[in-house]
Amino acid sequence: MNIVKICKDAKRIGIGGHIRPDGDCVGSCLGLSLYLKKVFPEKEVKVFLEKPSDHFSCIKGFKDIVILGRAVREEPDFDVFFAVDCGSERLGDAERLFKQAKVTVNIDHHISNAGGTGTCNYIDPEASSASELVYELIEEDMLDADIAAALYMGIAHDTGVFRYSCTSPKTMQAAAKLISFGFDFPGLIEETFYEKTYVQNQIMGRALLESMMIMNGRCIVSYIDRKTMEFYKVTGADLEGIVSQLKLTKGVECAVFMYEIRSLQYKVSLRSSEKVDVAKVAELFGGGGHKRAAGCTMNGTFHDVINNLSVHMEEQLEEAGA
Ligand code: 5GP
Ligand code: MN
Repeated sequence: MNIVKICKDAKRIGIGGHIRPDGDCVGSCLGLSLYLKKVFPEKEVKVFLEKPSDHFSCIKGFKDIVILGRAVREEPDFDVFFAVDCGSERLGDAERLFKQAKVTVNIDHHISNAGGTGTCNYIDPEASSASELVYELIEEDMLDADIAAALYMGIAHDTGVFRYSCTSPKTMQAAAKLISFGFDFPGLIEETFYEKTYVQNQIMGRALLESMMIMNGRCIVSYIDRKTMEFYKVTGADLEGIVSQLKLTKGVECAVFMYEIRSLQYKVSLRSSEKVDVAKVAELFGGGGHKRAAGCTMNGTFHDVINNLSVHMEEQLEEAGA
């Protein structure tokens, strides 16, 4: 796919990523927009996202992101619209802009979006991150420190800083090239990935303290309810990293973390080590993701949700002979 060719005749280019934007979503959308603005300084290039965490404010272009809401509903049509790190159904309010654009491009690495939702699709479920795919699509001689920092951040976040099995030799080669542009890469990862506010650490502590082991210690589960979130004045974005911390527990194959988004409704995060395909489990409940990291929204009490999920995780473990 040649994105320069696709955008050549466009006047207005839009870019959107998934709701609840994470590091890869922000990095890939901003990396792509910085690149397109550099190649086509005369064109209008706009990024649309649900409000991302301020942790990412060090990435160039962050302050120009159009936050989903009323402004988006009044936005005129685009000549080209990119859905990055998701299919069009997870663009939130920007889905309309995608659907009404003359040309639609989908760049994604989610196995649950293997077919793609654009007129042009660049989908690779083997890729570590959408940022790695954007890196593959852009011309190397146009790279600079700002674009490199955005894409490096995305790759580092979706690979858990190059630890998860989605990390490939290609991922490392991309990262090696990107750090050659000389931005402060250890500082960037410290600031956007590891650093937590005091309340973020406190609420993670609560989730760990109240976690439970189920399925004979092969699965760990925990949740945070609305009341606790209101007490600590946190949003869902402040709870990132809890599920990965749970999964580090020795002997655990799956980790489930969920937080209440409204009464009897939870946003669920699933992680697995090597046997359970959590994307398959999430898809059963209308969600999706990757083999080792996926999510969905589920209704019921915490116990209902755990009962519904654990049946499928156990089934997969039994099939795997574990
Ligand atoms: P997280 O648990 O960090 O929110 O998400 C893990 C992975 O699953 C991410 O790649 C995320 O994009 C994907 N994911 C999370 N929730 C959903 C969902 O409701 N639907 C789909 N299709 N993917 C999701
Ligand atoms: Mn991603």
